[in-house]
Parts: sequence; C-alpha cells; structure tokens
Amino acid sequence: MIDLTITEALEKLKSREISATELTHAYLERIEKYGADLNCYITTTPERALADAAASDARYAAGNPLPLDGIPIAMKDLFATHGIRTTAASRMLENFVPQYESTVSQKFIDAGTVLLGKANLDEFAMGTFSKTSFFGAPINPWQMERKLTAGGSSGGTTSAVASGLAIGGTGTDTGGSIRFPASITGLVGMKPTYGLCSRWGCVAFASSLDTPGPIARTVDDAALLLSAMAGHDPKDSTSADAGFHAHTPLSPILGDGKKLRIGIIKEFADVEISPDMKRIFDARVADLKSLGADVVEVSIPNILDALAAYYIIAPAEASSNLARYDGMRYGLRVDGTDLIDTYKKTRAAGFGTEVQRRMIIGTAVLSSESYEVYFMQAARVRRMIADSFNAAFEQCDLILCPAGAGTAMPLDSDLTPLEYYALDLFTVAMNLAGVPACSVPAGIAENGLPLGMQVVGRRFDDMRVMQLAKHIEQFAGVDNRPTKIMGK
Ligand code: GLN
Repeated sequence: MIDLTITEALEKLKSREISATELTHAYLERIEKYGADLNCYITTTPERALADAAASDARYAAGNPLPLDGIPIAMKDLFATHGIRTTAASRMLENFVPQYESTVSQKFIDAGTVLLGKANLDEFAMGTFSKTSFFGAPINPWQMERKLTAGGSSGGTTSAVASGLAIGGTGTDTGGSIRFPASITGLVGMKPTYGLCSRWGCVAFASSLDTPGPIARTVDDAALLLSAMAGHDPKDSTSADAGFHAHTPLSPILGDGKKLRIGIIKEFADVEISPDMKRIFDARVADLKSLGADVVEVSIPNILDALAAYYIIAPAEASSNLARYDGMRYGLRVDGTDLIDTYKKTRAAGFGTEVQRRMIIGTAVLSSESYEVYFMQAARVRRMIADSFNAAFEQCDLILCPAGAGTAMPLDSDLTPLEYYALDLFTVAMNLAGVPACSVPAGIAENGLPLGMQVVGRRFDDMRVMQLAKHIEQFAGVDNRPTKIMGK
C-alpha cells in the first residue's frame, strides 16, 4: 500500500477500496520498523494519526470527504502544532509544546490529512545535510547501507517520503531546503512563490526568504499538497492575496503544437557539475525540444554572487529572529548568576555550532562598521538578481537549471562550512528573487542515485512551473517507489 501516490490513494479511498485507517496503519507499521534507523521523525504521533484516520473514514462514509481526506503526511518540525512538541531540531526547543497551530498545519487539518509525525531537519533549518539537527541526521533510503544524506534542511521529510514512512510532507525553503533534499532523494520539491504559503506559526529563520512548500513523489501529488497549503493569511503580512488550485492530473503545456520558450541560464554554464548531471540535463532539454519547446539562452548577470548575498542576508535576519530565545518566556533555560549570565548560559547550551556561527555572522554584518559594506551591498545584489529574473522572463516563459551539482554524498563527508554553503549555488537566487522553483527527478546517475533539475518561473506562475516539471518527470521516468528504493 505504501507505494501508492497521493493521487492513487485518494482514488482508492473515494471508491472505499481502502480505508484511511488501513492506509494509516500501513505507514505506522513501517515507521515502527524503519523509523529509528532512518531517523526521519523527531516525534511520531500514532494516536493522533489513528484519530485523524477515523475522522476521515467517518467523512467518507457520510459521503462528504475533504480534499486530502485520509492522506498520511509528515510535517517538518518547524511548523508549530498545537499540543505537539515542536523543536526546530534544536536543544533550545527540545521540550516546547505550542499552544497554537501554524497556518500551514491548520490548512492540512482542514484538508483532512492524517498527521504521522514531526519530521527531522537541520537546527532552525540552517544546513544542507540535516546534520546540524540536535537529534542526529536522517538517512537517505537510497543505498541505505552507504548512509548518504537525505539533504537539508528538510531532510527528515525527504527521508520519510522516499522510504514510504509518509506519503508526502512539508518542507520550508529559505535557500534550497526543499529543492536540494528532494533532488538527491528522487522526489519532487516545490518552493512556491514567496508569500503564496503563510509563514505564520512556522519557526522563523530568515523571514524575507522563508517559503513553506510541499515534498512528494510526483508533481501531481506536490500540486495537490500545495493546493491545500497555499492561500492568503491575514496573520502573515507578507502573505499574498493569491491561491493555488490544481486540478490533477495537471494538463500538458507542451505537445500538440503548444509553444513555450525555455531559458537556460548562461552564467551557470561554467559552473562545474557532475558529468551525470550534465548528460541528464542535456537529455531532458532535448526531450522538451522534441515536444516543441524553443530553448533560448538567458542571462542573470549577478547569479554567481547570489551565494555571497544570501550568506549575508539570511544570517542577518536569523540573528534578529533568534534573539527571542533568551530562556525567559519559553524554551531552554540554564540559570546563571544574574540575568545576563542566564542569557549567555542558555544560548550557549541551547544553540548548536552552526546556528551560533550564523548569529555571529549576522550580528557582524549588521554592525555599524559593516552594515553599508556588507548588508546594504547584499541587499543591492538581491535587487539586481530579482530585476535580472524579470528581464529574463521577457525572453522566455520558464527557466531550467540543475538543482545541485551531483548525487547524495555520505553523511560523514568532511566539508568545511564554506563547502557546505557552496552546495546552495543553484538554489539561493530563487529565494532572493522570490520566484517559484520546482525540483523534479530528472534521471539516474551511473552510481544508481537520482538527480533533480529545477524549473523556475515568474512570480505567481507556480502552476506552469509544475506543468513543465511534469513533462520532465514523464521523460525521466525515475522509479521512486519506496519498496523499490529500500528493496523491502
Ligand atoms: N543550505 C541553506 C542554508 O543553510 C538553505 C537552508 C534552507 O533553505 N533552510 O542556509
């Protein structure tokens, strides 16, 4: 049962061939078997899941099911869930139980989903391998004995979905945290337009970049999840007055004489990527051409500076957002000799090394000596990148680029912080510009591991981004059934 996609499961639930309770049991059993080894959940919620499933079955029986009724999902442990521990994978929030529900998780409740648990992630979503988690890193189910990373920061969700420990789930993408992990686990990861999904109740990292979005096995499934998540929220002042309503299966935007101009980013041509990524990327571009797409070269002149700008802006915002964890109102508290000593001891004990590094960088670039040369300069680069995307979209409808340079790396790879940061080269620019971008499985490398590529669109063109991603998915034909990936 766990090889079903969301689309297939919904059909079987509607026809009453399976019940939500049966489906939920199938996932709970698998979590029981493999959850500890994969370390993809920080908290599992089996009782809640069974109660959700029973409520779904009652709605099916009454003939009035909700849009995603009975669909068992993993919620990244960055979304506050009422009465359920929400940790952001940090010691600081190890025992934090919110008294409120985030807008995104509430929307999933309203859509009838079943909550399996809270998925592991990098601490406060800062990282690329989910190794900065206080709870240890989740594992990629592909070639599991090799202990590869499932990516980060939404690596718990990708580990869970790829292994059949959830049918789909949520992520957040501040600089690539949905797309990169999806790309190395054979999944679809959609970073919507900034503002399409509410950030309210989602633990803040860098507020002007944080973007909730779905992770699933197919583009249609991701579109269904996004339809549930998206929508205006008066509680988030950056929430857009726009929604997303997918009718699946998504309809083709190529073939039958349909015209589409696809842009390839010139500046990325000189960036080193693995031969597999190059071969697979070129093959998919050729496939799209065969359906009638016109491929043009576009220029985003400052795109290679996006990394530097991101690693100034994101830590600056993080240093401000994380100032709230002072041991006074909630979260960890380590008592010191006086107030200042308590702050110091609490923050030294509660935050891991990478989070501390970000806050130090952030406060440094916001200091009076550095503000103009670092922060303002980064803000200007950000504006130029956003303008360049707008200009590029005068010449093309959608843009394609790799989601990362290569396949999943071993968790014990010894990388310096800068080497980790460099892995975000293909993803951060889209966050700086606020444009939608979807990572979709594009092929399998020689070593048997999946590779993803990105489709990028104009702001609020999320639907077409996913429609083009679906064409790529069909050409690539990557088999991501959990039982096949895990061999069991
Ligand atoms: N790897 C990036 C970082 O560490 C992106 C993280 C994210 O998108 N949350 O900042």
